[in-house]
Amino acid sequence: DVSKVKLDYQSDVARLRKIVINSLYSNRDVFLRELISNANDALEKFRLTALMEKDIYDGVSPLNVTLKAERNAEGKGGRIVITDTGIGMSLEELTLNLGTLAKSGTSEFLTKADSEDMTGGGNLIGAFGVGFYSSFLVADRVTVASIPPKSSKHPNPTQNIFSSSADEGSFEIYPDPRGNTLGHGTEIVLELKNDAMDYLTPSNLMKLVNQHSSFSTAFPIYLWNEVEEELPVEAEEVHTTEFETPEDEDEAIVEEDTEPETMLKTKKVVVGRWEHMNSQPPLWMRDPKTVTDEEYNLLYQATFKDFQKPLAWSHFTGDSGDGVSFRALIYVPSRLSEEFFSKPLDASTKDVKLFVKHVFITSDLGEYSLPKWASWVKVIIDAEDLPLNVSRETFQSSAFLKQVKNVIIRRLIQLFGKIAEEDPEKFNEITTTYNTVLKLGAAEDNKNREKLAALTRYTTNQRNGTSFNDYIENKKQGQRQIFYLADMGKSSEYLAGSVFVEKLHARGYEVLLLNEPLDEILTQTLRNWKGISFQDVAKAGLKFGDDSEDDVEMMAALTKKFAPLLDWLKLEAGENVRDVVVSDRLVTSPCAVVADSHGFTANVQKLMSATSK
Ligand code: ADP
Ligand code: MG
Repeated sequence: DVSKVKLDYQSDVARLRKIVINSLYSNRDVFLRELISNANDALEKFRLTALMEKDIYDGVSPLNVTLKAERNAEGKGGRIVITDTGIGMSLEELTLNLGTLAKSGTSEFLTKADSEDMTGGGNLIGAFGVGFYSSFLVADRVTVASIPPKSSKHPNPTQNIFSSSADEGSFEIYPDPRGNTLGHGTEIVLELKNDAMDYLTPSNLMKLVNQHSSFSTAFPIYLWNEVEEELPVEAEEVHTTEFETPEDEDEAIVEEDTEPETMLKTKKVVVGRWEHMNSQPPLWMRDPKTVTDEEYNLLYQATFKDFQKPLAWSHFTGDSGDGVSFRALIYVPSRLSEEFFSKPLDASTKDVKLFVKHVFITSDLGEYSLPKWASWVKVIIDAEDLPLNVSRETFQSSAFLKQVKNVIIRRLIQLFGKIAEEDPEKFNEITTTYNTVLKLGAAEDNKNREKLAALTRYTTNQRNGTSFNDYIENKKQGQRQIFYLADMGKSSEYLAGSVFVEKLHARGYEVLLLNEPLDEILTQTLRNWKGISFQDVAKAGLKFGDDSEDDVEMMAALTKKFAPLLDWLKLEAGENVRDVVVSDRLVTSPCAVVADSHGFTANVQKLMSATSK
């Protein structure tokens, strides 16, 4: 008697569903994490909407996720019911969100899915946020009932149903014949496949929730659990009222065992009750000493949807200076996104997740976003006592955020410094991914320039991974300059073989071989390191520390001797050169053209013509 509308999935959805169903079989546990994460997102959206539109929430009705496994009466088959009291979906939203690919990340997923071996792809699903379709990994049919809260957007909300089977290219949409049973929120019923009945066992569900969802979810998750208990006969009634129940359930259910042992003073009963799964405070509130690496990894992967483990992290307590204390957890991902360097300079990601009292507020720090060089860092920050009811605009202008930004940057630099000192092997990994980023930071960030520059590493004519401090330690007696040769895009081998390097190399000097665009900008911004100035070996002005009196005399004599040749060369070269001099820079090459000490080197000229295009 209800009007069911049958709609075809958008063609990409059909493709996506197929990929998900066919290729992620061995990873099908992910469905639960994905659905819980959707429920949590919906609860967060509800709460944020309620901050702006006060009428939609009475402030007392429960905001939670419940999970229940139900066996069919005949003992064959069953279903899992996942319910949240979140933002819900209207009829249109059910069609749009679950029937089309409204999200930008998904086409990227499809491209990746085409090109990659998908056997390990369970994480790919999470990484690209195509989570809902993972429910078809375990379900023959998925039925979603949903209703948004009464608001200005939905003045007369009704509860509707989206229903789809795993092997059809279409879905049905219709008003829920039961009417409004949810208040507001979403109920997802998974009719389990025959080979997925293991999920009907509460302890299995419990294990999955504990593994993937319990530590990072702000809203309570309750699981319906049925346990067999031996109860004293007389005490039965008293006992039933003691069970913990979620706020919206009034009673626990006690069923008699099928074979009551009437002769005993105690009897076995199956006791059903709601169990609070994530009653522990979130991981970042714990003492770092009690958190395992595995827990840090899982939290990172679930929170930031990265299928790789982080390279490093820093977990600490901070203070904003005006009395607001906070917990923070900073993660260094194992790689930068492919488009990191091509993004505009002021582009920053939204990966600083700000919580107040464990409740998610925003990941958009507005004008206090991290600078480009640090925009890849993933952060969880949880403030103790900021007023929650401020609108997000006022919140963003608070001095707190400014402080947060500075603290994150300071701690990030400290973290890198600590690794550089204590774990050279790990720091090599950091260098491989982040060296260029650190150079960018040193060039960009006036306040932290020295600290960031100290973390940058260079190849020289003598070794790899040299820092400026290493260079200074290794310099020769009397050496008064830091030598470098810069040629953008050239290999280190090429630079090492340059005529400008050969004499220095022969005399045992170390020369930084700079081939990245940022290198020369950095040496010119720094000008010197610990008071020792950078000297381009392709420019005039080179000073050797080991020039002896004899050498100086000899140079004067040679200049005199070759004066006629020098004059002739100057005449022939005309406007093209500023001067022709005798030099002791070269070993095997007869001559070299070098830049004037005040002029631009060939490299900077290349850079300038590249940027002015
Ligand atoms: P993602 O969560 O990355 O957006 P999903 O495939 O998991 O992708 O979900 C698709 C969309 O469906 C969500 O963006 C959301 O709009 C909607 N949705 C899914 N589950 C819920 C829910 N429990 N409550 C409200 N909306 C939901
Ligand atoms: Mg999702």
